[in-house]
Amino acid sequence: MLAYEYGSDGRMALREKDLPRAAEGEVTVDVVAAGICGTDLKIARGEHRLFPPGTVRVPGHESVGRIRENRSGRADLEPGTPVAIAPNIACGQCPPCRKDLGPLCEDYTSVGLTFDGGFAEVVRVTARGVAGGNVLPLPPGLDLVTAAMIEPVAAVVRGLRPLRLTPTDTVLVCGAGPIGLTAVVLAKQAGVRKIIVSQTSAARRELARQYGADETIDPRAEDLVERVFELTGGIGAEVVIAATPVHQVFTDAVRAAAKGGRVNFFAGLPSGKGEVTVDANLIHYRELLVTGSTANTAADCAEAMEIVARAPEAFAALITHRVPLREADHAFELATSGEALKVLLEPQT
Ligand SMILES: [Zn+2]
Ligand SMILES: [Zn+2]
Repeated sequence: MLAYEYGSDGRMALREKDLPRAAEGEVTVDVVAAGICGTDLKIARGEHRLFPPGTVRVPGHESVGRIRENRSGRADLEPGTPVAIAPNIACGQCPPCRKDLGPLCEDYTSVGLTFDGGFAEVVRVTARGVAGGNVLPLPPGLDLVTAAMIEPVAAVVRGLRPLRLTPTDTVLVCGAGPIGLTAVVLAKQAGVRKIIVSQTSAARRELARQYGADETIDPRAEDLVERVFELTGGIGAEVVIAATPVHQVFTDAVRAAAKGGRVNFFAGLPSGKGEVTVDANLIHYRELLVTGSTANTAADCAEAMEIVARAPEAFAALITHRVPLREADHAFELATSGEALKVLLEPQT
């Protein structure tokens, strides 16, 4: 089969590989679509901690498709069943797992990160993944292409959960990529008072408005924090989501928060370069809650699947490009360019 693989030379390339086969308890899936995300771009640049030099592995953790082989014994996973794959497979037993911190599992495995993922014609899900609910049959009416958004939406669902959005909140979203725009959609659905989006690209600011942002700010042309206080009558934003991996964004996210505000550090900075300047007195005197989130669990993906199924159009619109797997180099260029939002690789076309 054809796969787009990270090789021992530290580069992504199309290669022919043996078809994976399902062992006892496992399933294989004919991949219909697999989204490219910032994590994959990091892998392609050789900067991902789970892809140290010498690693040979197929990325792709946002994959959907149809069951090919079912050796799980589960009647709802018969061949042909359309499914989304929740990539993060946790042991369920270790201390982080017992605290619902699956992505921090001490024996973490992940489709597309610790073993071969969905940038291939066929992907295999381990028995632990199948047993852990990582293979999600799609509800009727949700098409496989739109379902590719379930995984990124699940990450945002997880990031927003501790922020407890309420109708009186003003929400500031820093960054209008697929993640930031998903946060805008979810904030809109939560019925918040006002949504402000900070974004340097004019085209993406316009998109943010289409998605429901009430106000947009160009942080290069205006003072972000000053503008947020102006737009909120001097109060600040009750909720701030830092969804772009730029150091200044984390500093400003805390400065723009209202008294009692809740801040999520969603984006990850390059390994070893995570130090940012934050005024501790703001957290102290304004009683801020600063949270972090990374990836998602199978349960987050199941919740995201319901959210996507309820309003598929909003999420389908984030998919701007669908590219055959054999043109994967081009797809990665598109995803890197910043013009595209979500780019899907389609192995069956
Ligand atoms: Zn992702
Ligand atoms: Zn665990």
